Amino acid sequence: MTVTYEQALASVLRIVRIQEIHNVSLAIVAGEILARDVFADRNIPPFPRAAMDGYAVIWTGKEVEISYRVVGTVNPGGAWNGDAADSDCIKIMTGAMVPPSFDTVIQVELAKAAPDGTIRFTDPVKRGENIAKEGEDVREGAVLITAGTLLSPHHVATLSSVGQWMVPVYKRPSVAVLATGSELLEPWESAQGPMIRNSNSHFLLAALKELGFAKIRYLGIAPDDRERIVSKILEGLDCDFLLLSGGVSVGDVDIVPDCLNACGVRKILHKVAVKPGKPIFVGESPGGGIVIGLPGNPVAVMVHFHMFIRPLLLKASGATEYLPKPILLPLARSAANKSGGKKFTIARLESDGGETRVAEIPSHGSGDFVSACRADGVFEIPLGTVQLPAGHVVRFYPIWGNFLSNEE
Ligand code: AMP
Ligand code: MG
Repeated sequence: MTVTYEQALASVLRIVRIQEIHNVSLAIVAGEILARDVFADRNIPPFPRAAMDGYAVIWTGKEVEISYRVVGTVNPGGAWNGDAADSDCIKIMTGAMVPPSFDTVIQVELAKAAPDGTIRFTDPVKRGENIAKEGEDVREGAVLITAGTLLSPHHVATLSSVGQWMVPVYKRPSVAVLATGSELLEPWESAQGPMIRNSNSHFLLAALKELGFAKIRYLGIAPDDRERIVSKILEGLDCDFLLLSGGVSVGDVDIVPDCLNACGVRKILHKVAVKPGKPIFVGESPGGGIVIGLPGNPVAVMVHFHMFIRPLLLKASGATEYLPKPILLPLARSAANKSGGKKFTIARLESDGGETRVAEIPSHGSGDFVSACRADGVFEIPLGTVQLPAGHVVRFYPIWGNFLSNEE
């Protein structure tokens, strides 16, 4: 029986094993997955902090009536610990610690200096104004970033602020990549007649690199020959993941499932009710690794990588959020689904007149991978839906888009 995309993904996610933990420095931590919760080592802000350049005063409500004597200056990183009267003020800079007993900062624009050196304020102020209170953002001990978070540069800012310069992250699984097909040559070879160049492997290698996977074993191309495929598979089974492309469908030379079986790979599923890429094969190696046989069609490989393989790789890398997150957007034009299963259609975002719409990229099917160069992602046509009208709100997955525009 053919399983749904959701059932297929759930059944494989269940057997994914998470890798060990190691420490890496802040300089290389972006793109890694945090392995332990990160706590605040102090309150944030750690002291009452001036939010403006100005004067710290003891609030009385009579700020416009009093002449103030400037009794000191505090720059960022400095402190002032004297005694102060109600008519004393401290010159203070943004980011500096407001001295004890002072409770309000009046911005410099509201201050006028008199010839005798005193200060007068032009407008009334509220008590506590222009001071970020100690701990108002975060209390000491609070969890700032949870384990399982995929770290971006903005997380690096938080890690730095709490002094975490060596960061526990999960190791990444190792991944082997193998292309199968007697028609395949490498990009650096001259291709003529019935031969084509292997694009799937190089897509997979680039996509893995982009996701931060470094333990990659590229096994090259095996022609549709049992012995040659088996020997390459055996090499790849040392890795935590083995990704193959080609040879999993129903043609005479689609022998990859048989070869995997001969290598002791236990079949988990073969065929998923999804387009593109219905004949996908998934198995488990004798050592517990995950083996994925992708159909050779390049668009199927691209879509499966993001919608099926990436969740598995991210979960194996310790991520707690690993599923692609959809955005609900209207369709620019009607869209059809003749597959009977779920369909992921490659699309581009159009923002005409301010509203963003999802526009299907015209293509000649899952072999037409060049059309994917213009795609921002895919949208979903649910299983059982044959036709969606223009304007219908769909689940759009922004898997390729950089979301940059040339509109100024
Ligand atoms: P298959 O799944 O082996 O029947 O292949 C389906 C289609 O994808 C055929 O047109 C193949 O030539 C093409 N194909 C298979 N492997 C690759 C690859 N590594 N790179 C580019 N196209 C491929
Ligand atoms: Mg083939």
